[in-house]
Amino acid sequence: MEKFKGDIATVVKHTGSHYLVSNLPDWNLVSCVVKGKMRIKDLHTTNPIAVGDHVDYDLLEDGTGIITKIHPRSNYIIRKSTNLSRRAHIIAANIDVAFLIVTMDFPETKRAFVDRFLVTCEAYKIPVTIVLNKVDLYTDDHREMTEHFKDVYSRAGYSIIEVSGKTGHNIDQLRNECKGKLSLFSGLSGVGKSSLINSLDSTLRLRTGKISDYHLQGKHTTTFYEVHPLSSGGFIIDTPGIKGFGLVEMGIEELSHYFPEMFKIIDKCKFAPCTHTHEPDCAIKEAVEKGEISPDRYLSYLGMLEEESKYR
Ligand code: GDP
Ligand code: ZN
Repeated sequence: MEKFKGDIATVVKHTGSHYLVSNLPDWNLVSCVVKGKMRIKDLHTTNPIAVGDHVDYDLLEDGTGIITKIHPRSNYIIRKSTNLSRRAHIIAANIDVAFLIVTMDFPETKRAFVDRFLVTCEAYKIPVTIVLNKVDLYTDDHREMTEHFKDVYSRAGYSIIEVSGKTGHNIDQLRNECKGKLSLFSGLSGVGKSSLINSLDSTLRLRTGKISDYHLQGKHTTTFYEVHPLSSGGFIIDTPGIKGFGLVEMGIEELSHYFPEMFKIIDKCKFAPCTHTHEPDCAIKEAVEKGEISPDRYLSYLGMLEEESKYR
């Protein structure tokens, strides 16, 4: 099931003015610039071309190229631009799977962060696998939290892998899941993204940041997003230093569409649209009462609903 066929160029690195492209799965990098006209076309984003984009380019005599066309994206993920404009920055496009790296502790990944990330990926149509890292550090308490976590998210329909980048626990399984895909590795700073990528392929030497002992916050060690080729097959985009992704603009009635366990039974609500809060004969509320939907996830939903309503 190899989707990379070598007949289309993919942007694998963006360094400000240049884009490195390669016809994956080959790794023959061509340095490209963008045809002048294309630069100003997209006013909603700060970067019209992102890593993962499929492009056409003209090869020049000096071996460099000029990008002439971007193919339609199957999906993409953005973060809000740092300036105050309403423009967003596209992190990556055409992602096959996002691995959300989570740690129970060192640093703690808050459930609100996990749920927000999952909603974002659902909205962007990016499949997610949750990776629980640093299992070598877990105490009995952590184990208990882990079991609860696994119960909540597997019931919501997500796959979860427990790994340790340090001991190599389940790294083979993760490596297998990366084969033939363009994967995004995301999670808070310090959860071990770079270390994991290095352990998937020992020829990659991503810099790993030390967690500062004060706030247990990782340092940002890289700035530009790039695609890393795995010698075992597949390609990974590391997203260092990302605290949160920009949520797509959505109506509050739409939010529950991005909780897969809710979306499944949404047709059974008496009212449409239903916010699953005050409406009578609400299938979601019933499912929560019966224990079919995790109360944790429902509370998270309510929290996000409230936050979203604030901006209207
Ligand atoms: P990133 O910010 O997500 O890229 O995290 P890093 O890969 O830089 O890792 C942050 C810190 O966690 C480093 O000091 C790593 O050595 C450590 N670390 C990463 N993975 C593991 C693991 O599985 N077990 C343990 N004990 N430490 C880990
Ligand atoms: Zn409802």
